[in-house]
Amino acid sequence: MRIILLGPPGAGKGTQACRIEEKFHLPKISTGDILRRAVREGTPLGLKAESMMKDGLLVSDDIVVGLVEDAVGREECRRGYVLDGFPRTISQAESLTRIDGRRPERVIEILLGSEELARRLAHRRVCRTCGAIVGSEDSPPPGGDGGRCPVCGGALEVRSDDRPDVIRARLEIFDAQTAPLREYYRSRNAYHSLSGNGTPEEVFGRISVLVEGFLGGAAEERRS
Ligand code: AMP
Repeated sequence: MRIILLGPPGAGKGTQACRIEEKFHLPKISTGDILRRAVREGTPLGLKAESMMKDGLLVSDDIVVGLVEDAVGREECRRGYVLDGFPRTISQAESLTRIDGRRPERVIEILLGSEELARRLAHRRVCRTCGAIVGSEDSPPPGGDGGRCPVCGGALEVRSDDRPDVIRARLEIFDAQTAPLREYYRSRNAYHSLSGNGTPEEVFGRISVLVEGFLGGAAEERRS
């Protein structure tokens, strides 16, 4: 099963992709995570992507599509995957069809109002050592010492692209370039949306209903 998570920055895509990976055993492919790791490690890919990411702009398609092509081609992704942060444009969606050859079964948009998005982004932290994203529900209040990473104990810091002016740019890009994917996938009978309000468990409950709905239908088809 192939799942795409859509939603503006701060909607909780990364958190929910991890939960989907755990419960449904679908490998998570997060282009943002892959790019941030490359930047942390100072690889040639990281050096190419860094300035675009700092400004909240989209990294070029030839870089990002190549990353997804490598990931989707891995043996562990043969039975499906969950994509977080890709596609972000119609042209990336078309590249995904070319790469995979099959359409995603569920494109799930996590909807959240702008005030709640701003609140979550203001609290979000990233670990300087392992890159774990620490969400608002378990991060220290802003202005403190930044706290420690719950995964590796490393120092936490504000993501360089979670600063107010950069957030504004990222939200504009989402509206202009990513939101058209709703219609793109709606017309392919794959689009679903749900509320991102509430706890991560509550949001995951809504997502699970959609995923299990598909898996149940597929099992039924195999039996008949
Ligand atoms: P994310 O963690 O998904 O919010 O991504 C962080 C940043 O990585 C974005 O603001 C972009 O600069 C870059 N990025 C991640 N995914 C993509 C993508 N599909 N296309 C272009 N740039 C991306």
